[in-house]
Amino acid sequence: MSPTASGNSSAQTHLPVPAHWIDGHSVPVEGHGLAVVNPATGEVIASVPEGTAEDVDRAVDAAAAAFADWSTTDLAHRIALMRRVAEGLQTRQEELAAVITAEIGAPISFSRLAHAGFPAEAIAAAITVAEEYVWSEEVGNSTIVREPIGVVGAITPWNFPLQQVVNKVVPALLAGNTVVLKPSEVSPLSAQIFAEVTAQAGVPAGVFNLVHGTGAVVGEAIARHSGIAMVSFTGSTMAGKRVAAVAADTVKRVSLELGGKAALVVLPEADLDEAVSQGLANAWVNGGQACGAWTRMLVPAEAHDRVVEKLREAAAAYTTGDPTREETDLGPLASEAQRRRVNEYIEKGIADGATLVVGGPDRPEGLETGAYVKPTIFADVDPDSTIAREEIFGPVLTVIPYTGDDQAVAITNDTVYGLSAAIAGDGDHALALARQIRAGQVIINGGQYNFMAPWGGYKQSGNGRENGRAGFEEYLETKAISV
Ligand code: NAD
Repeated sequence: MSPTASGNSSAQTHLPVPAHWIDGHSVPVEGHGLAVVNPATGEVIASVPEGTAEDVDRAVDAAAAAFADWSTTDLAHRIALMRRVAEGLQTRQEELAAVITAEIGAPISFSRLAHAGFPAEAIAAAITVAEEYVWSEEVGNSTIVREPIGVVGAITPWNFPLQQVVNKVVPALLAGNTVVLKPSEVSPLSAQIFAEVTAQAGVPAGVFNLVHGTGAVVGEAIARHSGIAMVSFTGSTMAGKRVAAVAADTVKRVSLELGGKAALVVLPEADLDEAVSQGLANAWVNGGQACGAWTRMLVPAEAHDRVVEKLREAAAAYTTGDPTREETDLGPLASEAQRRRVNEYIEKGIADGATLVVGGPDRPEGLETGAYVKPTIFADVDPDSTIAREEIFGPVLTVIPYTGDDQAVAITNDTVYGLSAAIAGDGDHALALARQIRAGQVIINGGQYNFMAPWGGYKQSGNGRENGRAGFEEYLETKAISV
């Protein structure tokens, strides 16, 4: 690990000023807001309005009023507008990348490629799904029609701040719904640019609304609101449970995308170099702050020590440091709170007797300020230990030895989560295991992310899907008209 110089400049990055966006207008907010902090420097870079339940009421009123027209527009019109949103995001890709690097500390090269680059791909895929969708079918004496559900409340996390917004708002609008979005208060700046882009694209007033603020106030006001027909939530399992409980009183639809603890199962015949390189890259992607990150690496007991040596070598090639530098692979975590949390897990891993291979507690050398942790690998990890069971949401990989396929599947499935998993090995062998894994997606031999395929979790990883036809249908009601 070779940390580069600490610090980072958000000085050259033009940052938007967060404000609610309601009924086609930016709503000026008086008084003090919540600080948005650049986690690389600790510098306060913006202030985000602390929205209230009344702000949510106003946004819901606007969205409800806009629903009548928007839900009956031609699909072709909605598609044309979403294409313009995608173009608008592409035009501002460089600015978005810099803003996301400033708000969550993601390395600039990853911000450009993934955070600011993937949303346009996701929009293109959502448009294809909408174009191909069968909106009506005959079943016996009935016509089954699919219709927009109404006003959708969308609540998103900070880890992929623009992608999560796009994943919800675009299919919801394509389906003919109107939206009230609450982005994460940790990363509200990219969402603000998204609001500007939708307005410039010509999305009519009231169709898309944004209310900033905390989960406890604005998030719960959305979940509770009787004018909201559905809440689509992405975030932690703990907050998702609360959203479902608050929403229950109005019997609204609740779609939850929650935490994960994905395993990569390395089969005995796998190419170990490839498995290690892909496995480590995935475990540490976005600083390990990814719901689907492969944070458990299950390796055949006889290959354990060889894999650990390869991991040690692979880890030495990663650069941790200033996220504005092109060569940086791992920036700081998204916040000081996240740094403390991840650091405690690293200390817990050591206390529980796991073998520390790389990293450890405290900041990396030369990075005394900022929300940095040492990217860490633990070997010989007990599958029942805390670091093997809880979602850490930081660059901490646990290597767990196993004996035989049955034990590999049992350990993979022995978690409250069920979001994602991966397998490295012979195709047929891997496929046979994939079918036994209780997770919403299984990636074999580093298969590419597919924006047309559904994404979502089993068990406490959630109950909804995003992307693809299944993701689109979350935003539709079903009506049977029988004659
Ligand atoms: P979080 O749960 O703290 O916050 C997510 C969002 O929910 C934020 O906008 C927050 O303000 C809001 N919120 C918090 N408490 C709320 C409440 N009581 N009522 C309503 N809204 C509330 O999560 P985070 O720290 O921002 O994100 C990290 C988590 O998100 C991880 O657990 C990660 O696995 C999960 N995640 C899941 C997916 C997925 O697709 N399954 C994708 C990304 C992130």
